[in-house]
Amino acid sequence: MTTETTPAPNFIRNQIREEIEGGQVTSIVTRFPPEPNGFLHIGHAKSICLNFGLAEQTGGQCHLRFDDTNPAKEEQAYIDAIKEDVHWLGFEWSGDVRFASDYFDQLYAWAQHLINAGNAYVDDLSPDEIREYRGTLTEPGRPSPYRERSVDENLELLEGMRQGDFAEGGKVLRAKIDMASPNINLRDPILYRIRHATHHQTGDKWHIYPSYDFTHGQSDAIEGITHSVCTLEFEAHRPLYEWFLNNLPVPAKPRQIEFARLNLNYTLTSKRKLKLLVDDGIVAGWDDPRMPTISGMRRRGYTPASLRKFCDMVGVSRSDSGLVDIAMLTHAIRSDLEDSAPRAMCVLKPLKVVLTNVPDDFEEIYEVPGHPAREDMPVRQVPLTRELYIDHNDFMEEPPKKFFRLAPGKEVRLRNSYVVRCDEVIKDAAGEVVELRCSVDFDTLGKNPEGRKVKGVLHWVSATHGIPMEVRLYDNLFTAEQPDRDKDADFLEHLNPESLTICQAIGEPSLAGTAPESRFQFERVGYFCADRHASTPEKLVFNRTVGLKDTWAKIKQKG
Ligand code: ATP
Ligand code: MG
Repeated sequence: MTTETTPAPNFIRNQIREEIEGGQVTSIVTRFPPEPNGFLHIGHAKSICLNFGLAEQTGGQCHLRFDDTNPAKEEQAYIDAIKEDVHWLGFEWSGDVRFASDYFDQLYAWAQHLINAGNAYVDDLSPDEIREYRGTLTEPGRPSPYRERSVDENLELLEGMRQGDFAEGGKVLRAKIDMASPNINLRDPILYRIRHATHHQTGDKWHIYPSYDFTHGQSDAIEGITHSVCTLEFEAHRPLYEWFLNNLPVPAKPRQIEFARLNLNYTLTSKRKLKLLVDDGIVAGWDDPRMPTISGMRRRGYTPASLRKFCDMVGVSRSDSGLVDIAMLTHAIRSDLEDSAPRAMCVLKPLKVVLTNVPDDFEEIYEVPGHPAREDMPVRQVPLTRELYIDHNDFMEEPPKKFFRLAPGKEVRLRNSYVVRCDEVIKDAAGEVVELRCSVDFDTLGKNPEGRKVKGVLHWVSATHGIPMEVRLYDNLFTAEQPDRDKDADFLEHLNPESLTICQAIGEPSLAGTAPESRFQFERVGYFCADRHASTPEKLVFNRTVGLKDTWAKIKQKG
């Protein structure tokens, strides 16, 4: 397949190669660590391809670990969806699925270890006070009045927190590092918060939950992760990540490496904001085909290979790489489907055409290749009958000069069939065109009419044999390139009211019985995929994955 090429090199892979060659590591272990608080999106696909790809390319392993430290926002349904998405993308994690919550006992013991070493304390300041005491980028923080509690008092209070003796927000456990550090993450970061919540994995066992910072590096260490690859926003957390590894008796010392997150124009890549679209009913669920979620893109018709190819094309860089053009994503899917999708004809906006110079029972069946370049694809039987449909957009009563489609008195070729001429236009009482009367030139099957040039070729479907189907056309969900750029404004203001158009279409009979998730190129219209959930072999529903015009290929040619 054209999409399966050797992956592009990147700085992390080069670095790991050097470490392996230099003997610093023998085999690498990476991990993909989603929080199960939403569905995965295209940004996560980049992280998945990178982490699983690094392991694959260097003969190492990659773990799937749920970073499940916030029971209030997490759900089993998200865990299931994330596992499905990773598999669908074509990756297999090593060993069982892991959970940070598997390590809660160990983390608690390590919290006690820090207290015993004088490196942690229970703080009674409120969340607001903690923020205020923390200082700013230009001002150092101030020590909490509770900072010098004794080891015994701290151990006892932490145990009380664990048992559920205190109210949420009443106490936290903090590391005792440096309230004057220029890195705010080192100003006595929070290790544990009180939460009286039921956890999807640990039930009601815990009344305290560890912070991301206190969980992540230690989980990496427990699992023997060698390279903890994460996005750039964690760069300033790295000194803290290392502080924990250096101050705890951990079994291994993983290394954190940051890369730039993926941002796509016209697209949101934040689970929190995508959740809002779902919760507010703006889209029909996390896997709505307009969503940039992996499951949404799957429903829309994207292939795993196209998403992997896209992630490879965007590359991996150490510095913020700005907005990626969504045309690059659509280019990746087009170049995959161009080779792999069988062709068919489907009329989205049917306009009836009656052939006046053939008998009522006229029928010819053409054998048409399933794909112009793929002899292995089954041949289609395409019937022509007296009544057929063309697309309304392919007819104009008063056409402009360069309109090579159908118009009164004009000729076009019906794809794979004859040249026909439009002799008469029928309108309804409201003056709308409802039918065209055309005559067939029988001398034009498979050859050009003598002496005249017919430029237009239209797709069409027999009215007798065509099958009615629903076709859903999609446009970007947002009209602004960066809908959430202005932090104070509501990104919903940039919603595209025309992101979904539903057509009652007619498809050629060879489409009958199509299984969900089958993909086609509907000639002249685009690439389509039978909806995973709504489409049945009896009642077809197609999603347009992408149109035919490849703007990215053009940009590349020019560049
Ligand atoms: P979101 O802001 O959408 O909730 P997140 O980073 O909080 O994303 P996690 O579940 O914590 O979501 O992410 C799992 C992994 O995916 C992390 O290692 C994170 O760095 C990575 N990741 C998340 N978003 C992107 C992105 N846009 N580009 C690349 N990697 C990403
Ligand atoms: Mg996160």
